Amino acid sequence: MTLTTKCPKCDSSSFELNSKTKVKDCRHNLHFIQCALCGAAISVVSDRHNHILEEIAKKLGIR
Ligand SMILES: [Zn+2]
Repeated sequence: MTLTTKCPKCDSSSFELNSKTKVKDCRHNLHFIQCALCGAAISVVSDRHNHILEEIAKKLGIR
């Protein structure tokens, strides 16, 4: 078990958020979590999913 997340390509443990990459036919913004060194995408955060989660949290009274 390792405690840090590593890039599968270059073993770097430094990541950044990329909001500029567009995905074809996707109508909402996606934010990629990518390796800060080689740019390999590790995960994707969707604007829309974020929004939905925030609305649910508000309804449930979670801040
Ligand atoms: Zn990398």
